Amino acid sequence: MKYRDLQIQTQREAPNNARTEGFAFLVRAGFLTRENVLTKLGEHTINHLREVGNETLQAIPTIGNDRETFFAIPTGDIEIAHCSNCKYTERIELARFMKLVEAPFDTVAPLPLEKIETPNCNTIESLANFLGIQKEQTAKALMYTRISDGKFVFVVVRGDMQLSEAKLKAQVGDVRAARAEETESVGAVAGYASAVGLMDALIVADDLIPRSPNLVAGANEAGFHLKNTNYGRDYSAEIVADLVQAQDGDTCVSCGKPLSVLRAIQMNDNFENILLALAETHHDDKGLTFPHPTAPFDAYLMHIAGKELDTLAKAREIYNELQDAGISVLFDDRDERAGVKFNDADLIGCPVRVTVGEKGLREGMVELKERKEKENQLVKIDEIVEKIKPILYS
Ligand SMILES: [Zn+2]
Repeated sequence: MKYRDLQIQTQREAPNNARTEGFAFLVRAGFLTRENVLTKLGEHTINHLREVGNETLQAIPTIGNDRETFFAIPTGDIEIAHCSNCKYTERIELARFMKLVEAPFDTVAPLPLEKIETPNCNTIESLANFLGIQKEQTAKALMYTRISDGKFVFVVVRGDMQLSEAKLKAQVGDVRAARAEETESVGAVAGYASAVGLMDALIVADDLIPRSPNLVAGANEAGFHLKNTNYGRDYSAEIVADLVQAQDGDTCVSCGKPLSVLRAIQMNDNFENILLALAETHHDDKGLTFPHPTAPFDAYLMHIAGKELDTLAKAREIYNELQDAGISVLFDDRDERAGVKFNDADLIGCPVRVTVGEKGLREGMVELKERKEKENQLVKIDEIVEKIKPILYS
């Protein structure tokens, strides 16, 4: 294709809103606008990546599981838990981790239930502060209504844990937050709620709860909590399951090493994300360095205007010859200075650059430069195709 047909607009400077180098180079090389909209070149590249298919993922260091492939990037729109040791990877809301029963829960016997006054303690934070205890020594209550049948769903997780609504929904179906009158009707008091003494509620407990004795939980009375609530003695649940979200540093369920929580983008068939991941992993200080077959074009062809010889006409001939040989070409046929074209060639980053200049042409030669190499070489015009192919397929 011709450079002009794609209306390529390169930029000298990285855009101010670039939060990653890959994005900055995609804008500078004219694949994206600053507003993250694909240009003609960008659309051409997406179509090309789609044709090459998921093989392109081999050019990117991805992580994933048998359902999803991710690329870790700070600007990613999803959070994943990842084990760098055994490569376990899962969306954070579904990630499993090893729940260890540690002090103070490992040796303690159940103590008698005790109602205590806890004014203005309607959050786990304020309750733990007021009593001078750790958040893990409290039980956190979350209240929902099941969409399908209106059943009140009362969830108990430990105070130091975050509920994963995805894990809850996997157990009970779709839910929405419970309304005040629904909470009242089962006998719960928001801010001071517990599963002790509820009427007609589906109680769902995280599987750490039965293994965590003597938790402080709400007394279902404003301003009061219960000390030493014990699962099995004071209440029980219809469902006990893993309901909480993994956190950075939690223990990998497969190998026991710490998990990392990372931001990531999803790669499966998302070619915009694949383009960004390629740019993130394949660039140098001059521009993009996409490898074959991911590069939108195999070769960047340009001419340097001559004084006596018609370098443009010769470049046109070479353009046709390369295309006929199955080498895709971005033909920069503009009347720009050589330096401008060299810069653009580096920015856009086709695997090879072919330069048709007067000096070489006199000897039947053109200049061939690999994007990743510093030096260029002079090659005979009738040997270009055989010189380029090994570079692409190496
Ligand atoms: Zn692991």
